Formats: sequence, structure tokens, C-alpha cells
Amino acid sequence: MKRTSKNPDSFTRRVAVLKVSAEEQIVQSQLARRGYLPGVLVGHPNTSAVEMALERFQKNYGLRKTGRPTDTTLDVLLAPGCGVPDILREGVAAPGPGHPWPVNRRSLTYSFLTFDTDLPESTQQQVVEAALARWLDVTNSLTIVPTRNSYFEVAFAWAPPRHPQCVEFDNSTLAHAFGPDDPYEFRRGSLHFNTAVRWLAKLSGPGHLLFNVALHEIGHILGLHHSYDPESIMHPDYSHARNDLSAMDKTILRRLYEP
Ligand SMILES: [Zn+2]
Ligand SMILES: [Zn+2]
Repeated sequence: MKRTSKNPDSFTRRVAVLKVSAEEQIVQSQLARRGYLPGVLVGHPNTSAVEMALERFQKNYGLRKTGRPTDTTLDVLLAPGCGVPDILREGVAAPGPGHPWPVNRRSLTYSFLTFDTDLPESTQQQVVEAALARWLDVTNSLTIVPTRNSYFEVAFAWAPPRHPQCVEFDNSTLAHAFGPDDPYEFRRGSLHFNTAVRWLAKLSGPGHLLFNVALHEIGHILGLHHSYDPESIMHPDYSHARNDLSAMDKTILRRLYEP
């Protein structure tokens, strides 16, 4: 039996109403990436939800609270950075005290699963290990050592934007990592760098410094959440200049691990 459209005009009108502009779509997806807007709302017109999300974002990032995507807001919203949301789930939002590895799991091991092609593998490994050492120097209550065994808690890897059993990287996402309180146990301790990014060992042309990104993401692996303090390595957005732990970052790590 042939199917006939009951009323194409009404259908077309409904679709037109449901469409959002390309610019709105970008604003919505960035708000969703950062955890301010539920992903299911992206692509649908929902002015009040987007306005509330923008206000919360503007407040956190020290911007004028307008609820509108002003030029200054867009600059910050679209800045490249970490793929971990500021608001992980209701009640678990940055800034927060963080969530340490349990007391009986503080002698951990790590392994490198894959590498990128931008830099020699030994350089990638050295840079990530230097970032890890910077954090571990802060406390004696946690060790993370390399292993050749097939069991390890912490895994470093480079992955393309779409990779299995994980969140897709968008154009603004450099990397993401999953801490000890991630709801999915299998990915706790995983750090994924985006292979679509140009990785640098030192500032030499366009690209992003691997050390800076590794330092931030390892913070997540250790259980820290984002911070909006521009001095903190846990600030969600990338900067060439943000390349060390702040005094407060060290304090937060010690609070998490020291009795
Ligand atoms: Zn992050
Ligand atoms: Zn991933």
C-alpha cells in the first residue's frame, strides 16, 4: 500500500520551527561539551535552557552575566582545551574538592597504549612522564610507576576524534581523562590525547604543548576537577603560558591524599 503524506505543509512548518541556526548549534554543542547543557537539547530551540547555561558559564569564567552569546563569551566558549565537562553531573561540578583514589589503591601502575606521529615516541613518553613526576613530587602518599604487565590502573593513549567506548573529540578538544570517580569503571585512569591536534615538545610554530596538556589531564587522573583560577593548571582552557602547578593545585592534591 502506498503511503501518502497527510499534510506536508504542516510537517515542513514543524521542521522549520525545530531548526536552529549553525551559530546556535555551535554555541549549544560547546555548552554541552563543557557540561552546561544536556546533550539531548543540542540542535533544538530551547531559549531559556541555553540562556541559563550561558549565564552559569559566564559566571564561572568571570564574564559579564548576560545569558547571551556575546563576542567575548564566544571567544572563551570556543577556546581549545580539555574535553572533561566543568559540570560532570548534578552535584559534581567544578570547582570542587575532587575525588582521590581509595586508600587501598595508592600504589598504582601506568602504561602507554598508543602514540601520535607528530613527535618521536620516546619524546612523547618523556614529556608525559615529566608531567606525571611534577604532580607526584607534591606528595609521598601516592606512587604511579611504569609496568610491562597487562594490568595497570593508569593508561596513556593517543586516539582519533572518534574512538570506541568513549566521548568523541570535537574541534576544540585537545584531550580528556577519567578520574577515579568516573561512573564507568573500565575507563577510570584513562587519558586520551587527540591525534587531530598538532603536538609540540617545545614552542616551535603552530600547535599545542604536550607538557601543558598532560599536566592538566593527569590532574584529572589524580582526581582533581576544573578550576576557574587562571593560575591553576586545572583551568579548562589551554594556554602556552600555563605550564606548572599553582600553589593551590598542590594544596588540593595534598588535601586529597594526605591524612
Ligand atoms: Zn580538564
Ligand atoms: Zn577518549
